[in-house]
Amino acid sequence: MKTSSRSRSPWRQMLVSLFAVTFFAQSGLAWQTAAAPKAAPALTAAEKKAVAGVKLETIREITKALSAPEMQGRGTAQPGGDKAAKYLAARFQALGLKPLGDAGTYLQSINFKSAQVQPGASITAGDQTLKLRIDFIAAPPLTGDKNIEGKLAFAGYGRASEVNALDLAGKVAIVVLGPPKGVEKAVWDKENASQSVVFRLLGKKAAGVILANFGSPDQPYAMVADYLTRRSVSLADAVQPPATFPPIILVSDAGAEKLLTGSGSTYAQARAAADAGETAARVYETTVKINIPLKQETGIGSNVIGVLEGADPTLKEQAVVFSAHYDAFGVGADNRIYPGAADNALGVGEILSIAETLTHAQPRPRRSIIFLAVTGEEYGLLGAEHWVKHPTWKLDNVAADINLDGIGTEVWGPVKRIIGFGSEHSTLGAALEAVVAATGNVVAPDPLPEEKVFYRSDHFAFVKKGVPSLMLLGTPDIDADAMRTRAKKWMATDYHQPGDIVRPEWDWTGAQTVAVIGLLVGMRVADTDAMPAWLPSSQFNKARGGAAAAKPQ
Ligand SMILES: [Zn+2]
Repeated sequence: MKTSSRSRSPWRQMLVSLFAVTFFAQSGLAWQTAAAPKAAPALTAAEKKAVAGVKLETIREITKALSAPEMQGRGTAQPGGDKAAKYLAARFQALGLKPLGDAGTYLQSINFKSAQVQPGASITAGDQTLKLRIDFIAAPPLTGDKNIEGKLAFAGYGRASEVNALDLAGKVAIVVLGPPKGVEKAVWDKENASQSVVFRLLGKKAAGVILANFGSPDQPYAMVADYLTRRSVSLADAVQPPATFPPIILVSDAGAEKLLTGSGSTYAQARAAADAGETAARVYETTVKINIPLKQETGIGSNVIGVLEGADPTLKEQAVVFSAHYDAFGVGADNRIYPGAADNALGVGEILSIAETLTHAQPRPRRSIIFLAVTGEEYGLLGAEHWVKHPTWKLDNVAADINLDGIGTEVWGPVKRIIGFGSEHSTLGAALEAVVAATGNVVAPDPLPEEKVFYRSDHFAFVKKGVPSLMLLGTPDIDADAMRTRAKKWMATDYHQPGDIVRPEWDWTGAQTVAVIGLLVGMRVADTDAMPAWLPSSQFNKARGGAAAAKPQ
């Protein structure tokens, strides 16, 4: 079957997002270093007064409250998430924000569905047994219990020539993810990107697909396995592939060796033959049994939304959104709590400190200001996607989204460098530069371009709907290499782990600086006659509220 004929199927899109965004960062996002700051106009008296109102104590109090054990990691559609939503709604109310959720409340409820592979999942091949997580994991889309068996087939690197040589009907196909030795990745991906290989195998009616050599030096199999054995959550109205969709399994090298035990060659030998271009693809006598019991549930979670009405009788119909996700990974199947302090109780604390400042500002901003604390971010920006699909404020009238999310770099010391993801796409870039210069800070390039952060937080849901957006990150004044080293270390140890907790050594002045920068950009956007605009050169340049959007490729 031709790849293109399937290209519009929703489950193909799911695979694309699994491979392209989550784990296979394919093309580095070119990030421009900002030019040396021009002499920026100083802050106005009203701005100076507002800046003085940004309280570090508020950020600290909210960050600590949200990441406390009783909030149970604020899991999406879990009791801890509900508790956090109620806590935030009460804070919004105390500030005097107007409710902007369902039926006069601060909460917009969202139906979710979740899936959790059960510990009893197993794969056997002949007399070998593969262990869940250590040897194999089930990749999304997870569409129900899987109980299949079939002869094992080795499909090399999954090239068309290798796959076409095999009768795969009813077989369990194992394929090595390329590129093979000596082939450049960019060249390889043109014809044989991972999702293309999967669909090539499914097109030959394989009963199951097993992918070996998954991962990368930055995201090794063990890290991928940690994520993919967690509960997975999606919007209840998301289109799912049919329950008959074949299982897609990822195996470690050790798991691949177990599968090929008794086949006459080891996995390493079969792979070496495929590297050498020899005809390695073949069907073995080994029978593979795949048994994946899945626990599926439905549940409700909420976005928390409040608005400060603008002072201008006309412009108040338009709004600037401050967004931050309040969810973290909740309580895991292992009963451990994932507190998500840096990611992203801190960002929520920052937007709440901005809300506190603006509700006291005199004069109030001309445009309205929406505070949007979203859920479901960790599972794919779900709360933000839901809000832009079911907006409680007309999207045509959303001037901009300013999003606060990150890995806590702003508490690593006094913040001096500001990174504005999305700056190069809209006039928000110039607005940010002016604010950064006026506050004596510097705009810095993205220290981790390979992470493709621009596509990975809630502002991107707005970007896809044509709303110019910025995500702000602050870092201390350390050089890019030192920054990278520290960030990489944190991401390997505490990011999305139980260790993401508030630490005594955190420098809260850094978080305060990030809130100040966000506040000032928001105030200027709220008070400027024209709404921010996309730069004509941007791939995201389109009208607000539109349907189709540029894809991250
Ligand atoms: Zn986050």
